[in-house]
Amino acid sequence: MCKFCDARAKAPADSGGGPAVRPSTGAMPSGIGAPGRRTLIRGGHVLSMDAAVGNFARGDVLIEGSKILAVAAQIDAGDAAVIDAAGHVVMPGFIDTHHHQFETALRSLLSDAILVNDGRPESQANYYEWMLQKFSVLYRPQDVYISELFGGIAQIDAGVTTVMDVSQIHHSPEHTDAAISALRDTGRRAVLGYFEGWGDAAEYPGDARRVKAQHFASDDQLLTMVMGGEIYLPFHEEAWRIGRELNIPVALHVVGTFGMQPTFDGLAMAGKFGPDNIFIHMTGMSDLAWKAAADAGAHISLSVPIEMQMRHGEPPLQKALDMGLMPSLSTDVECTMTADMFTQMRSTVTLQRMIANEKALRGEEYPRLLSALDVIRFATVEGAKGLKLDHKTGTLTPGKEADIILLDATALNVAPLNHVPGAVVTLMERSNVSTVICAGVVRKWQGAMLGHDIAKLRAELEASRDYLFEAAGVEQDLFRA
Ligand SMILES: [Zn+2]
Repeated sequence: MCKFCDARAKAPADSGGGPAVRPSTGAMPSGIGAPGRRTLIRGGHVLSMDAAVGNFARGDVLIEGSKILAVAAQIDAGDAAVIDAAGHVVMPGFIDTHHHQFETALRSLLSDAILVNDGRPESQANYYEWMLQKFSVLYRPQDVYISELFGGIAQIDAGVTTVMDVSQIHHSPEHTDAAISALRDTGRRAVLGYFEGWGDAAEYPGDARRVKAQHFASDDQLLTMVMGGEIYLPFHEEAWRIGRELNIPVALHVVGTFGMQPTFDGLAMAGKFGPDNIFIHMTGMSDLAWKAAADAGAHISLSVPIEMQMRHGEPPLQKALDMGLMPSLSTDVECTMTADMFTQMRSTVTLQRMIANEKALRGEEYPRLLSALDVIRFATVEGAKGLKLDHKTGTLTPGKEADIILLDATALNVAPLNHVPGAVVTLMERSNVSTVICAGVVRKWQGAMLGHDIAKLRAELEASRDYLFEAAGVEQDLFRA
């Protein structure tokens, strides 16, 4: 039996003369997200991220099926089910515009690593040689699936309702299909970043046409597709051409550490940049390229903690802002840093203010200090724009899909609530993510993840990890120096 039909059949009748609504009493209202089912998220601190909608110190959000119907101080919602949001910040789910989810099995393996081997003893285990050359080539489709799924579920737990998964494990069409299955089974909005793979069975970039036709033919689904077009690879011109033929965005890492500046300048001068480009990191690039990116309306995705940790170069946050480019934020790799957006937002705001504050102390001109609200904007609506999903998500706007999170502002680390954006950015972390709704469907309810057997998945992830270490000939060492 359909769980929604069952739940609706058993819904208790209104008990008296009051309004025909049922306050939640801890149990999840039944049927949320089902077509035609109305749910009122009532009495929260509503941060809509949409100036036309506004914010509400105490407000209601009404959803029907997968969509937001209304946002207001008070909504009379008839017989809608009710989620009591008192004491909670109600805001759009976070959007991570660049995350290599396939690396979940290798979490924290390269916590101390930089990108490349610079010859120093401490750089022996480095990202390029270990992750890309040693480990990623070993992935089987089942390794792709479990890492992608577990990493995605973990991000729902942290309130990230949309991701661009930058998968570089398309060693065969079966690997690609495993990645897509995992993104679908996770149950949130996701963009497959169709990047390269390695080995004789790899069919990147040409298989993009099949992938698009087979898995992404409809716009009315949670999954969309972006073409990977790395300019340090020999077939990038073909990849860009296919992406544009398929009318999907073209994303790439742009990192000075890898000597990309001349190639990138060449593309800039040839007029190749477009509003469909997603440039990740943008460290070490020329003024010429920045101007071309800004003129073209390209999108910039910054992974500030990773860029600082792994020697991508100084995060070009101020440069982007000075060029009028509003960046999104991205978590990048969990082999080196956690994939929650609170870490991203805090790192981003403190970096910008450190640089600006230092100038102020020196008596120099300094830029406007970023605010908590600014970095929430980067982590929500700017990410939606960058992934071409702002017609669906990124703000609490009637007509958009209900990608909504409830953050507990009564918790020990937050109460008393005195400033909503400030509390989110300067106080909160994933333990404050109480409830997560993706396209109207509750995926986390009052602190508990729904719909997945986490213990079983963790065992599968550990088995995959054991295989990868063994195949790579790397000893598991929990205290590796
Ligand atoms: Zn990356």
